[in-house]
Amino acid sequence: MNLKISALEYVQGVKNGDISAEDFVAQTMDRIKSIDNNLCAFLSINADAVIQAREIDKKIKSGKKVGDCFGMPVSIKDNICIKDSKTTCASKMLENYISPYDATVIKRLRQQDAIFVGKTNMDEFAMGFTTEFSAYGPSKNPWNQDYVPGGSSGGSAVSVGAFECVASLGSDTGGSVRNPASFCSAVGYKPTYGLISRYGLVSYANSIEQIGPICRTVKDAAFMLNMISGVDSNDNTTIDSRGTDYLQDIECDIEGKKIGIVKEMTGEGTDPAVLSATKDAISKLEGLGAICEEVSVGMTKYSVAAYYTITATEAGSNLARYDNLRYGYDFPLEGYEYNSYIAKARRNFGPEVTRRIIIGGFVPSAGHAGRYFLKALKVKSKLTKEVNELFKRFDFLVSPTVPVLPFKLGEKIDDPVSLLAIDINTVTANLTAKPAVSVPFSNHNGLPIGIQLMADSLQDKSLLQAAYALEQTVSLPEVPI
Ligand code: GLN
Repeated sequence: MNLKISALEYVQGVKNGDISAEDFVAQTMDRIKSIDNNLCAFLSINADAVIQAREIDKKIKSGKKVGDCFGMPVSIKDNICIKDSKTTCASKMLENYISPYDATVIKRLRQQDAIFVGKTNMDEFAMGFTTEFSAYGPSKNPWNQDYVPGGSSGGSAVSVGAFECVASLGSDTGGSVRNPASFCSAVGYKPTYGLISRYGLVSYANSIEQIGPICRTVKDAAFMLNMISGVDSNDNTTIDSRGTDYLQDIECDIEGKKIGIVKEMTGEGTDPAVLSATKDAISKLEGLGAICEEVSVGMTKYSVAAYYTITATEAGSNLARYDNLRYGYDFPLEGYEYNSYIAKARRNFGPEVTRRIIIGGFVPSAGHAGRYFLKALKVKSKLTKEVNELFKRFDFLVSPTVPVLPFKLGEKIDDPVSLLAIDINTVTANLTAKPAVSVPFSNHNGLPIGIQLMADSLQDKSLLQAAYALEQTVSLPEVPI
């Protein structure tokens, strides 16, 4: 059986009777068993996946109504709750945590008869860029296993890129869906803030983060958006998008669309191979009739600093609950006074999370807030103003998703500041609440390069149309695994 098909091909195949959900899921699980020891995309596996797929086949045979996913095997980042299964956030702190409820996205996929094959590896609490900050060891890039897969949703991107599932859900606070998608040659979609419920997503920086699909094709991302988006009474930041079908009319031409090439995201610090792929993407877009013009987003130079100030502040507050009393290990209180008990508990965090919590305690504190946190909020609002102005004149903004090529495991782990800088092209969409997508575009010596398109708030449908158009201009090599 060919496991390398898209989500839509899978659905069509099951509908036609050419594919049995049980066979497909069984072979997917076999593939995970045979290759994931090396790739480390998964932190846990659903032992009942094949049985659940069998039930779907039975439902189909008996003529019962079946959900639109038809038993499609989907992987889920390990910071999204699935009832009665582990949600570790790749942290020692939550090693034994079992979710008591389903996240809204899980509930919706379940209603549509998706099958969750397992929970995917990530940087601890979604803080990082390479998946090397996982407490359970890094995931490997399927294109070259000496290289990082990107992060923080690295396991999700690897599982899609290495055909260990058909589609995946990740979370994107500053690029964590788009970056690993770009490094693993997958499509990564970060929707407009509020389009997808965050209920059941373990919060890192909840004012800017979104769950997003990582898929093989742009059409699959649109399909996943159809499955999971929309208003949710459990998340009052959600937007009512009912009635929008992201797949319908996706094959729409982009002739006459105006695209801004962001100067600050295509300049200094961009790898020459990435730059040349970006130029190629721009000429392809022009070839499709789009009008491309260089634009400037001046606040970009402060965006990463503002992003880390805001996210560390929110993380400091969101992660206060991991104190062994509410969440964490259940070790006896005897022999400790309050502070030493909490201090012992919080030593379970890894180095990157610890750094963020320390910064998150400092930057918003009395006497410092004006210098750091309030300034960061000013950058956020100025950046939003700038981007909003641009979207009065342009339909989309284009840039490379990541300024560099995938790099070797261990290469940057001792230099966390250099890792932070890699987010330069992705954080703007989060800080301004805009939708953005990474489209696999090129391959340099076996290493994938993704192109990012960004659109104005709630223009997700037209963004997917443009991404689809760009996707059709390329033909990429197959992953060597
Ligand atoms: N690299 C960024 C960070 O560490 C992005 C993470 C994310 O989007 N979850 O915060």
